[in-house]
Amino acid sequence: MSGIYIHIPFCKQACHYCDFHFSTSLKKKDEMVLALAKEIQMRKSEFQNEIVETIYFGGGTPSILQIADLKFLIDEVYRNYKVVENPEITVEANPDDLTEKRIIELSKNKVNRLSIGIQSFFEDDLKLMNRAHNLEEAKKCLEIATQYFDNISIDLIYGVPEMSNEKWLQNIETALSFGVPHISSYALTVEPKTALHSFIQKGIIPQPDDEVAQEHFQILVDKLSENGFIHYELSNFGKEKYFSKNNSSYWLGKKYIGIGPSAHSYDGKNRGWNVSNNSLYIKSIQENKLPIEIETLTKTDRYNEYIMTGLRTIWGVSLHRIEQEFGKTYLDYLNQQAAKFIEDHLLFVDDNILRTTKKGKFLSDGIASDLFLLNL
Ligand code: SF4
Repeated sequence: MSGIYIHIPFCKQACHYCDFHFSTSLKKKDEMVLALAKEIQMRKSEFQNEIVETIYFGGGTPSILQIADLKFLIDEVYRNYKVVENPEITVEANPDDLTEKRIIELSKNKVNRLSIGIQSFFEDDLKLMNRAHNLEEAKKCLEIATQYFDNISIDLIYGVPEMSNEKWLQNIETALSFGVPHISSYALTVEPKTALHSFIQKGIIPQPDDEVAQEHFQILVDKLSENGFIHYELSNFGKEKYFSKNNSSYWLGKKYIGIGPSAHSYDGKNRGWNVSNNSLYIKSIQENKLPIEIETLTKTDRYNEYIMTGLRTIWGVSLHRIEQEFGKTYLDYLNQQAAKFIEDHLLFVDDNILRTTKKGKFLSDGIASDLFLLNL
């Protein structure tokens, strides 16, 4: 089973913390939709023997497109690929685009999952982040969306400067009050060259505090588990049967094709990434050339990736798989590197699977990097 990711590289305005690829000029929107459709066609041979299980519109802001454009792109996937009977089709959407009319229109299409960028239920946080929506739009869109869609995920950001634990808990409780079955939650990170970075440099906004973020993370984990959510990936919590199939397939190392500027692809051996520039992307596709760079992963790259994703997920790292797929040298190295984290109660082994403890979860990326091997 495999997935198709389609990147919609447009946003109404730039959120202060964001370093994804997008443009706030919509001038090339129609040309882009045609180019995306053409790339879908051009790459069909890559999935000749695959069945598409998930289609995911990410961004940028996919909800900025007309519903007819989304439908056109979904139809293009169906025209060119074998698709399972009930694929998961997700559209990332921002609250300001989700009017009742648009939600109803979306629900009448093949789209069956919404991932809504709420980020916070507090007006001051939304302003600090420079989100295009306000609190009223966030609440209203959730009230309506939950009537038409059963499978909804919302994004929330923690570790925002001056966000108290009480305020963060209130955010989570408000999210829960809408009965959504999936929540993705990330710590606010300060990426270079973002407006947030520059505000922090100038002292306009205080630096997010790692300890506060860690406290928020524990509050999140406890509150969501009390409410029946399964913490299946570091930043993702879902009720049973509501894990994101699209994201799980990345973490489980399945194949995917990434369509659109800056989109990444993976075929089990090679990783590819499209050019992160809308004009260059369109021009290249119009000239029948895929604007993609490809790198073949070494055995060590694949080992490192498995460690990173395994420690972030409930599936953990299978020591048996490490030995089978990578060999005894890799297994010995992993056991040796993991020993100190096991002693510090940050990792544990159960049934030959290496996993993070509750205490180790928040630190899983850092721990993983200590278990990595370098390409020699
Ligand atoms: S809407 Fe999403 S992609 Fe666009 S700027 Fe904001 S965070 Fe980035």
